[in-house]
Amino acid sequence: MTLSKKAQQIQPSITLAITAKAKEMRSNGIDVVGFGAGEPDFNTPKNIQDAAIEAIKKGYTKYTPASGIVELKKAIVNKFYKDNNLKYNTNQIIVSTGAKQCLANTFSAVLNPGDEVIIPIPYWVSYPELVKLADGIPVFVKTDEKNGFKYTIESLNKALTEKTKMILVNSPNNPTGTVYTKEELREIAEFAEKHDLFILSDEIYEKLIYGESKHISIASLSDDAYSRTIVINGVSKTYAMTGWRIGYAAASEKIIKLMSNIQSHTTSNPNSIAQYASLEALNSDPSDIDNMIKEFKRRRDFMIGRVNSIDNISCRKPEGAFYVMMNISGLFGKKSDEIEIKDSLSFSQMLLEKQKVAVVPGAGFGVDNYVRLSYATSMENIQEGLNRIDQFVKSLN
Ligand code: PMP
Ligand code: GLU
Repeated sequence: MTLSKKAQQIQPSITLAITAKAKEMRSNGIDVVGFGAGEPDFNTPKNIQDAAIEAIKKGYTKYTPASGIVELKKAIVNKFYKDNNLKYNTNQIIVSTGAKQCLANTFSAVLNPGDEVIIPIPYWVSYPELVKLADGIPVFVKTDEKNGFKYTIESLNKALTEKTKMILVNSPNNPTGTVYTKEELREIAEFAEKHDLFILSDEIYEKLIYGESKHISIASLSDDAYSRTIVINGVSKTYAMTGWRIGYAAASEKIIKLMSNIQSHTTSNPNSIAQYASLEALNSDPSDIDNMIKEFKRRRDFMIGRVNSIDNISCRKPEGAFYVMMNISGLFGKKSDEIEIKDSLSFSQMLLEKQKVAVVPGAGFGVDNYVRLSYATSMENIQEGLNRIDQFVKSLN
């Protein structure tokens, strides 16, 4: 019997696969250093854990409204106002099982078969697959490391067709760590207005910015931008809550209604206990996460210094998130045990085999000259892993 053609075109998430592989190797006693993880290595703060325990004890263990509890929606409304200068009411908010489900709901609510979504390369692995699942077509726009991996209006104009429906913005970016400036976002918003496009703004790494750059929500730049933007955010990265699975989205009431209808059939409400924990997270003192951010910055600075000290590989300084894109194109043509390093996959495979270091091949993000390293792992692991990468590079001939 034949199976779904659409499902058969969907690639598994390589980021999740590599994280799982490193964990499995470790549990088999192999001394592997994993740079795959896209999740904070810190534990969820205690006040958030306690709120979840309290929720269980109070019996908040039943179905909630499919789009989330109203207390949490109010806290989200408050967060958008305080942090992003965005005014929503609660019927413009949906709470979902991770930002991932918000993204899936958005594409299902907005796209018709054949509609095109502009996505920057490198992209986070799930965007193209989620667009395809909703019968849309991902249209990729290459960005350049020299330009900070950012869209240029020229490149956006080239990607534009009659079918373009939406443009995706992810700042701070996974995998590049790039943070767009207000002026750059304004240009993108004007482009969207000129061509009447929806903007999907994935802001899940909003709080993970190191140094001078500031997070700006593109939706806050004008009334027009506000009305055409779907903002995606969540608690996974900011509060070290990846396993709790709570994300949220804000948009026009019309779009949120469609997303809520879809969600009411696919999963019903997101986990009730995790919703109460997220309420505590959003209401907690913003300075609670300062130490985590300080530690990420320390690791980032060490990692970029160390990568750039190794001959033939390099990286730019990312402003946010917790990833570094390591340019490996200087190694192409070299050999490890007679096997040629010719792309991100051969590099990653040989590195894992020879030095037991797991990285995510850039191919998963649409770029073969790079591999992604996550610094959401301890300083000791980062030092050890980069020493091993150094040895691996030196061993090539
Ligand atoms: N967007 C980006 C850019 C991400 O890196 C992630 C990480 N998983 C997500 C969305 C989804 O996050 P979650 O489903 O854990 O809320
Ligand atoms: N977003 C994280 C990453 O890119 C977590 C894994 C995933 O959801 O793909 O590694």
